[in-house]
Amino acid sequence: MIYFDNAATTAPLEEALSFYLKAVKDFPGNSSSTHGLGRQADRELEKARASILESFGLAKTHSLIFNSGATEGNNLAIKGIAHFYKNRGKKLITSSVEHPSVTNAFKELEKEGFEVVYLPVTEEGKVDPLSLEKALDKDTILVSIMGVNNETGAVNDLSALADLTHKFPKAFFHSDLTQAIGKVKVPYSKLDLFTYSSHKIGGLRGDGALIYLNKIKFAPLSDGGGQEFGFRSGTVNVPAVMTQAYVVKEALKGYESNLKHVKEISEYLRQNLNIPSEIRFNSPIDASPYVLNFSLINKKASVVLEALSEKGIYVSSVSACNSKGEPISEVLTAMGKSEGDARNSIRLSFSKRNTLEEAKTFVLAFKEVLEGVINR
Ligand code: PMP
Repeated sequence: MIYFDNAATTAPLEEALSFYLKAVKDFPGNSSSTHGLGRQADRELEKARASILESFGLAKTHSLIFNSGATEGNNLAIKGIAHFYKNRGKKLITSSVEHPSVTNAFKELEKEGFEVVYLPVTEEGKVDPLSLEKALDKDTILVSIMGVNNETGAVNDLSALADLTHKFPKAFFHSDLTQAIGKVKVPYSKLDLFTYSSHKIGGLRGDGALIYLNKIKFAPLSDGGGQEFGFRSGTVNVPAVMTQAYVVKEALKGYESNLKHVKEISEYLRQNLNIPSEIRFNSPIDASPYVLNFSLINKKASVVLEALSEKGIYVSSVSACNSKGEPISEVLTAMGKSEGDARNSIRLSFSKRNTLEEAKTFVLAFKEVLEGVINR
């Protein structure tokens, strides 16, 4: 088997699983209970929170809400801020290539009367800071722009985008860092708030966090027992967040060596899949090496994906999150790609556990598949 769909999800690290199993047994209490087991679980919860903030270098300035992952985190960041600060202004800014958990949250707010600006992207799939500069004004209360695009790996200049936003003191800068944590350099301390999911970095599915400047407040998404500072009710999965603290630390610690390894795989594939009559690369040359996206010029991506799957090779077409709807990439469309290219893209995405040998096997199998599939 070759698994090149790590941006969709990646298997939990072996050590993370052992860590989780041990924590489930060792800390059986509900962290909200006031008895000894509850207090013990609560101590572990607070240790995990402190450890993650420390890993990001944000122990003094930021707070953290544990949640079910980036979809929830993005919704709370965007709707929670818009609703809480609605009397300060009505303008919200995002990009036209965000994950649906961002885009659809903004679409809901638009229905409520907020003004939302969807910034265009360059042909490389990045937000040009100049376009943000033009859109910002005194009525803006939130800017949300992703760190790394999940389909193309395009990396945004978060430092420049955050600096521009901060010229307007009422505006917060949020970033969806789901594909960025441990994979590219991120100016964490410049971000007012950011979201991620543990399962993209070797942790558990259904677990993640929203990290935010101490002073920020949110209108909660649901009512309940008031856990997580009243912003996210519901019993916290303490063993899961302890595991999260472990994988965040590992991801940040392993950044340089993992990057070097994955770059080698990604560069090998870019060179050896460079067949101009069959393939057009969509990932910019300076994209995160964890993602390599290209369009098939003559073949249907769905047919090639299925043929690869039959060989035990797993890749993605469009994005896993969009594939139930219309199978056209809105990201590639926003980058100005043709309809044919936007309907027939393949995304390879890697983890530190992939090998160069797998990349070599992939190239051979892929060429074989291309020969066996008829043109569209
Ligand atoms: N944002 C981005 C950029 C993503 O890639 C994903 C996962 N595909 C999400 C948000 C949502 O993450 P989750 O499904 O874990 O909530």
